[in-house]
Amino acid sequence: MAQHYSITEWLDLQRGFSSPELRSAMESHRVSCDRCSETLAWVERLQVTALADFKSDVPLQVTRNAQAIFALRRFDAIQFNTGSIAKMIFDSFNQPALQGVRSEQRSDVRHMLYEVEGYVIDLRLEHERGLSAVSMVGQIHHADNPDSKINPMPVKLTANDIELASTVCNNFGEFALAYVPQNALRLHLGLDAVGGQKF
Ligand SMILES: [Zn+2]
Repeated sequence: MAQHYSITEWLDLQRGFSSPELRSAMESHRVSCDRCSETLAWVERLQVTALADFKSDVPLQVTRNAQAIFALRRFDAIQFNTGSIAKMIFDSFNQPALQGVRSEQRSDVRHMLYEVEGYVIDLRLEHERGLSAVSMVGQIHHADNPDSKINPMPVKLTANDIELASTVCNNFGEFALAYVPQNALRLHLGLDAVGGQKF
């Protein structure tokens, strides 16, 4: 089976964080891979949406890191429609900076892993300079078989029970949202909602 690239790798590529070698490997792979072309197109659409909807004044450089950290800290929990709350098993904000692992050293990206009911949820929050919005890119895996297919499930982001954004993950468990950071943010996953029906 050919190796595909993850949505986070495409995001890095688009933002210029990939090495020249990786960039050329990904670009030649994409030409013959529908799945990866689709992932890249999705990442590009997300960027366009975030820019169009949330463009704001560029914050002062000196306050930039504090603002990003503050924005990305404001995330509460992941909850299934069954009521189960996911347990956080990794948070890049709680790790010492790893030498050579570039994305984990950035204060404007927070990478988290959660576990719940046999699923692992990989969540990446990114606060881009000059935007008030945070982009959230996630992937849901089966914990015991990370490469097996995921039934599309509805994904909804709320703040104090008010819906901010919603989508449906694809067959690879991938989803992407953009939102303005605020308190009591909770991500809801509609487990076993066949065909991605709404809650
Ligand atoms: Zn591919």
